[in-house]
Amino acid sequence: MKNAYCTDASPWESHAHPMASGIWKQIMDSMTLAQLHMAIDDTENWIWTASSTGNFTFSSAWNISRTPSPYFELSKVVWANATCPKMSCCLLNALSDRLLTRSRLLKFGIINSDLCVLCNTNSKTVEHLFFSCEYSTYIWALCKFKLGLQPNVHNLQKEANSFRTIYAQNKRSSALWKLVLAAAVWYLWKERNRRVFKAKEHTKLELIKKITADVNILMNTCSWKIEGTTKELEIFSNWNLSIDR
Ligand SMILES: [Zn+2]
Repeated sequence: MKNAYCTDASPWESHAHPMASGIWKQIMDSMTLAQLHMAIDDTENWIWTASSTGNFTFSSAWNISRTPSPYFELSKVVWANATCPKMSCCLLNALSDRLLTRSRLLKFGIINSDLCVLCNTNSKTVEHLFFSCEYSTYIWALCKFKLGLQPNVHNLQKEANSFRTIYAQNKRSSALWKLVLAAAVWYLWKERNRRVFKAKEHTKLELIKKITADVNILMNTCSWKIEGTTKELEIFSNWNLSIDR
């Protein structure tokens, strides 16, 4: 590549020709950026100014080459240890209102009705699907009861925030909490799809059993502390998690 594109100069001194390939242009841009972070110290050795030690690291190079996104305060709730990636992605999309609910499909002109398939009454927005719907309210209330909380149901954002603040102080059961949040959102979304695309449905209790079974399996695949207060041990047993392991 160097012979093809830098016939007259070293790669550090040459510039990408307008007709050069896109990859070559990217390489040249990276080299230009790297030069801005290279300096010579008192002992006439090259130092890499993008890291605190002066040594080159890939993480520091990655940091200078990207534009950082705004901090997502619920990241630790979404990307919890025990949660599987598909559940985390679904939760992230639900929190960002990116799921293609019937109200959004109606807006795009893809369908003619936006009635919720879980209760067949209200408009199916993300908020309704996950919290206002009679079907999902029941699922949430039972999940919260099994987690030892008052079964009041708020909106998704508020629930996620409460998980972040309350359980940030209590590491023993925080993994379980975050997992239940993601699993409930995932199973409600799957239930919606099952009704839309397969015309089949689960009862509320069947869905709760599925959530409990998945939570149990996923909790047993990660390390979590079994010690805790009596209430915490009671919460673990509500989810069929053995405290004798
Ligand atoms: Zn509904």
